[in-house]
Amino acid sequence: MKESGAILLVACYELGHQPLAVAWPAAFLEREGYRPAVMDVSVEPFDAERVQRARVVLISVPMHTALRLGVTVAERVRAVNPACHVAFFGLYATLNTEHLLAGPADSVLSGEVEAALVGLVRRLEAGADSTTASRARSLPVLEKLSFPVPSRAQLPSLKKYARLERDDGQELVAYVEASRGCKHLCRHCPIPPVYGGRFFVVPVEVLLADVRQQVEAGATHVTFGDPDFLNGPGHALAVARALHGEFPRLTFDFTAKIEHLLRHRERLPELARLGASFIVSAAESLSDTVLAHLEKGHTRTDIETAVRLVSAAGMTLRPTWVPFTPWTTLDDYRELLEFVETCGLVDAIDPVQFSIRLLIPPGSLLLESAALRPFLGDLVKNQFHHAWTHPDPRMEALHREVSAAVARAADGREDGAATYQRVRELADRAAGVAPRAFTTPARDRKRPPRLTEPWFC
Ligand code: SF4
Repeated sequence: MKESGAILLVACYELGHQPLAVAWPAAFLEREGYRPAVMDVSVEPFDAERVQRARVVLISVPMHTALRLGVTVAERVRAVNPACHVAFFGLYATLNTEHLLAGPADSVLSGEVEAALVGLVRRLEAGADSTTASRARSLPVLEKLSFPVPSRAQLPSLKKYARLERDDGQELVAYVEASRGCKHLCRHCPIPPVYGGRFFVVPVEVLLADVRQQVEAGATHVTFGDPDFLNGPGHALAVARALHGEFPRLTFDFTAKIEHLLRHRERLPELARLGASFIVSAAESLSDTVLAHLEKGHTRTDIETAVRLVSAAGMTLRPTWVPFTPWTTLDDYRELLEFVETCGLVDAIDPVQFSIRLLIPPGSLLLESAALRPFLGDLVKNQFHHAWTHPDPRMEALHREVSAAVARAADGREDGAATYQRVRELADRAAGVAPRAFTTPARDRKRPPRLTEPWFC
């Protein structure tokens, strides 16, 4: 198992950034003397030769899209190399344990998995058969790890991944995580069923070394991919100060919940001074009813306050939304669009956000919610989520129309403001009212910095 390429790590899709979720397992394995190969099928072709050489194939599935792609990859792996052990790891692995083990997977792991992946490889190396080797396969691993610096040497170049668009130019982006997991328990989020309200921090020196190697590769901006950068605000500030101390020209973005932006409002100006240019926040909805069902821990008023606070600190808030839930009314949807314009957020929200539909994976905390039951359908096994139906057929039709319009607009590289207007017209038509006036701003206007990959979760 120590020969080069006997272990193959596969990334399927990590929101357009270089896959840290395979760079870290690679580093853990290399520290123990293994020489894994890596393949990122989101930016390079499936390489049958690399697959044939492998005795173990470890497929990273940190998100729903990655899982769907990963299952197809596993089928191709099986066709090329039927004897190898196939493991799925990442958030969506244990959520879908039953389906994966009945199908393409020999084992599944999630949580703080890297040491467990090394353990799996060791057991296979010692001659255990696939079933014995993966006995503890379905339980999330929640142990504190000793992190090496992620191993990125074999990954495709940063140039192949999402860029930062700023001042009409594009820049290379580093992707790091200062913490993993989350201390909150929002009901629709895939993290709580795996992490159960826990999070783990990455030592500052490991993180800095990871940034350093990506700056050497050309990155001028850093995305902190922590589920919530402000879960540990002291750690976040220490990281940002160290980053700025070594790379004073580097900018960064991070994700934090609305509640944290309010609670730590006095830290926002310093974060901006240290290089933060924008903040992503899962606002999800303006409806306090919906927010209560999701147990988001914030209200509409809090979202309004957060927009003001972040702007006053000199940064842009890029809220993300789940505008299609069983509890969101057509009026709610139209009000959200109005809010986006009134708050000057049209350029801060990628149009795909207006089409997002609540995803209910197996294991979701929402499945315990009595409020969901009237709308809940069966598990769609091969798509890894539960179906649900909106009580208002106009919302189902609107979801289909908005999704199609947004996809078409993205394919045609339409100005986001024009797509926003299209969505507004669709919503007004669904409500049976005349479309409201909106003047699409000039194409050469100044826009807030954004990543070229519009997905956030
Ligand atoms: S939605 Fe955000 S704050 Fe809530 S549990 Fe998930 S990562 Fe944590």
